Amino acid sequence: MGLVADKLASLTLYRDSIRAMGVTVPGLVRRDGHVINLPILGWKDVNLGALIAADIDLPCHVENNANAAAFGHIYSDPRPHHGVVVYLKIGTGCGGAVIIDDKLLRGGNGLGTEFGHLRIAADGPLCSCGQRGCMETFVNLKALQRYATNRDVDEAATDPQLPAQVAAGLAVGDPDAERAVTTLAGHLTEGLVDISNLFDPDEVVLGGAMLPVLDAVVARVAGPLGRRMVPGMSLPLLTVSWIGAFECADWGGGLGAS
Ligand SMILES: [Zn+2]
Repeated sequence: MGLVADKLASLTLYRDSIRAMGVTVPGLVRRDGHVINLPILGWKDVNLGALIAADIDLPCHVENNANAAAFGHIYSDPRPHHGVVVYLKIGTGCGGAVIIDDKLLRGGNGLGTEFGHLRIAADGPLCSCGQRGCMETFVNLKALQRYATNRDVDEAATDPQLPAQVAAGLAVGDPDAERAVTTLAGHLTEGLVDISNLFDPDEVVLGGAMLPVLDAVVARVAGPLGRRMVPGMSLPLLTVSWIGAFECADWGGGLGAS
C-alpha cells in the first residue's frame, strides 16, 4: 500500500486540501468497504479501506466501481429527479448498479445488482464466478474481440484499444466491426430484457471502457429491447455515460478497463 502514500507525498498543489480518499474496485464490496471478492486480482476478504487509511492517515472509502460510476453519472447530471436508473459498466467485465430516487440500491450486504452474472445462456465461456452462461462473458472486451476476429482470445491478448478500432471500422462499413457490435448488442439485449422487466427503469446508462462503440450498441439494442419487454411497459431512455474516463477512480491504472 506504500504506493498510495508515495503518490500523496508527490502532490505539491493540493496535498493539504485532501480530507479523505475514495477508491473503487471491480468486485464485491461490503457496505463497510471490505472487499469480499476481486477476481481480476485474485483478492478475497481484503479490508482495503483500513489498509489504505492506515498508510495515509486519512479516511478511505472503498466502493464497487459500477456503483461509483452510476452515482457519478447522477451527481454530474443537472436534472433534479432521475427516478430509476440502471447503470452498466462494460469493459473487462460487466458491472451493474441501480439508483432509485437518487439513492443506490445496495442489497442486504451492499453486494447486489451484479447484473454481469445474469444467466443469459445455457452454456458459454467460464465466468469469474465459476458459472457458465453469465452475461459478462458475452458482453465485455474479450467477447468483442472474439466477435471481431471470429476466434477465441486469451485474457492477456485482449487489446484495450479494440473498442476504438471497432468504432473506426464501423465508420467505414467494415463487416467484422459490424458483426462484433451487433453480436455484443444482441447478448446485451438478452440481459436488458430481464433487467428492464425487473426494475422498470426510467433510464439505462451504458459506460466503461467499451465507450467508443456504445452509441452503436444503443442503436442496435433499442428496437429488440422494446419488442421483447413485457407488453405495456415503456422502453427506458437508453443513454451513454457522458463522464467517460472520469466515471470513477478505479484502483490501479490497469483496472480502469472495467
Ligand atoms: Zn458469472
